[in-house]
Amino acid sequence: MQSICIFLGASCGNDPIYMDAASAMGRELAARGITCVYGGSCTGLMNRLADSALEAGGRVVGVTVQALKDKEEFHRGLSELHVMPTMHARKKLMFDLSEAFIALPGGIGTYEEFFEVYTHRQMGLHSKPCALLNVNGFYSPMELMMRKAAQEGFMKTPHEESILIAETPAEMLDRLLGLPRG
Ligand code: AMP
Repeated sequence: MQSICIFLGASCGNDPIYMDAASAMGRELAARGITCVYGGSCTGLMNRLADSALEAGGRVVGVTVQALKDKEEFHRGLSELHVMPTMHARKKLMFDLSEAFIALPGGIGTYEEFFEVYTHRQMGLHSKPCALLNVNGFYSPMELMMRKAAQEGFMKTPHEESILIAETPAEMLDRLLGLPRG
């Protein structure tokens, strides 16, 4: 696998554990020679992910929109920065550039991006892996919601069968790459 898209908060979160997870994800991607595709921001967890991957010698591709670029909200040190006219065009390029998708903790922007690729996978429009990094139990309530949706007959394939959930970046990437852990 050569490139993975990371969706994650443009904010830092209140607990340093979230920034640490973004750092670790950047380092682990770089260590495996995997290009990190992300939203191109210079704030919050997004910025930390990009900085840590770049510091570790990794390749980071940002995909932003003109409106954010105009507000100077983009990372200036990326390996590549794509500036798209609309949010839809931006998500399409992030999809096209990536072989898998991982959501780290974040807010509604992160959920929206994750659920779009997950929905499209469930509809059979693609078969790229979709994953949630459950740092500090952050995504446990979302898992509960999806379990409820399956129990109540609103999800044909339970999320346990269709997305990958791991607690650390190293475990996540090893599982995505199909490596044994031990
Ligand atoms: P949120 O989780 O609401 O902080 O939104 C983060 C997600 O939405 C990221 O994965 C980005 O792709 C997108 N996003 C939100 N804010 C920005 C920003 N300032 N610059 C670039 N992308 C952003």
